[in-house]
Amino acid sequence: MRILISGAGIAGPTLAYWLDRYGMTPTIAEHSPALRTGGYMIDFWGAGFTVADRMGLRPEILRHGYTVQEIRVVNRHGVRVAGFPAEVFARATRSGFTSLPRGDLAAAVFGTIADRVETIFGDSIAHLEQTPTDVRVNFVRHPPLTFDMVVGADGLHSRVRDLVFGPEARFERYLGEKVAAFQVEGYRPRDELVYVMYSEVGQQVARFAMRGDRTMFLFTFADDDPSGPSDLDGQRALLRRHFGRSGWECPQILDALDTTTDVYFDRVSQIRMPPSNGLWTRGRVTLVGDAASCVSLLAGQGTALAMTGAYILAGELHRTGGNAAEACDRYQRLFGPFVAKKQRAAQRFAGVFAPKSKLSLFARNQIMRLLTTDWVANLTAGRGFKDPIVLPEY
Ligand SMILES: Cc1cc2nc3c(=O)[nH]c(=O)nc-3n(C[C@H](O)[C@H](O)[C@H](O)COP(=O)(O)OP(=O)(O)OC[C@H]3O[C@@H](n4cnc5c(N)ncnc54)[C@H](O)[C@@H]3O)c2cc1C
Repeated sequence: MRILISGAGIAGPTLAYWLDRYGMTPTIAEHSPALRTGGYMIDFWGAGFTVADRMGLRPEILRHGYTVQEIRVVNRHGVRVAGFPAEVFARATRSGFTSLPRGDLAAAVFGTIADRVETIFGDSIAHLEQTPTDVRVNFVRHPPLTFDMVVGADGLHSRVRDLVFGPEARFERYLGEKVAAFQVEGYRPRDELVYVMYSEVGQQVARFAMRGDRTMFLFTFADDDPSGPSDLDGQRALLRRHFGRSGWECPQILDALDTTTDVYFDRVSQIRMPPSNGLWTRGRVTLVGDAASCVSLLAGQGTALAMTGAYILAGELHRTGGNAAEACDRYQRLFGPFVAKKQRAAQRFAGVFAPKSKLSLFARNQIMRLLTTDWVANLTAGRGFKDPIVLPEY
């Protein structure tokens, strides 16, 4: 079975790994000229961790990962005002838990298929046409090719979804916040293994010190306007507008931002596709990862969910002997309700990243203080860190 996967992020290469392992022939088309390794620190656990484990990636992921010791909130003078030990998260998950840069995870997953799966970098699907027996694909650059199936694993702003299901605006639910992530070398101060956050009403900036004298930064801010600059200068200017007069290390972090060109900047949005209309599948085309069901960074689990969905889709294709209709139906029934739950939970989390008022900022910090008490931490994390899905063995 020849399957074209659009997108070499996290979901695409995971899907390619399993399809290849089951004897099918995946091809990836990635519009960037090389693997994109940007992004922020992700917490990685749950069903996605189990999938990574089944791919033999546990040692590599743990090697790149960090065992965060403390989540710390500071005031405008850098003085600690709230926080809790991060090990409550690890304790609450049975699968394994680590925090690692998204780019390291992307590279590790891609490494499993780099020598085995054809990847067309620097290209994108221009047009596709489904016939009863196959899908004919025209690329922007590459000559046309024919596949048995096409999977859109091309992220929040999926091209495949646009071409086959309709414009993004129909499925995107903007959560009223924007996010920017970047890293630089040599930043001072450093707080080893501490996730340091400074929040004001409607916005927050966080930093984490990494190996190799690098530091990662994450800005999140409330913004009613879903549109935003797509060019780097415009993004920098918008961040300066929001954080230019802020306390703590904000001026210094904005200066650091000016020294890099690798900035991840996006809306915080979810993708919700109506189950009544075939959910993620139209004939021989289906979607996986953020393209299908982006949960947003508020879920803290986008990468793990992308890997879980990809694993199930590949497994069902294998189980049904390549029957796309039956496999997609089972994939959606197994994974759909699970990811919908995660989306609802993520929406409730919006206030943590950009508290709407002084009162909610105060309340959030109080809750964080309570997490220093063992039984409260166990109860809270125990609830939030359950992955109510049984991963099939294929
Ligand atoms: C560089 C980068 C940095 C990120 N940083 C963060 C972060 O800091 N915090 C956070 O919460 N989430 C971040 N994300 C999103 C996060 O990675 C996803 O939520 C999660 O990994 C789901 O994985 P995915 O494979 O579905 O999507 P993604 O990881 O977004 O991968 C999608 C892939 O598709 C490619 N693509 C896009 N359009 C096309 C096209 N037309 N044709 C072919 N390929 C295409 C993209 O280049 C990308 O490689 C980032 C994504 C990227 C690409």
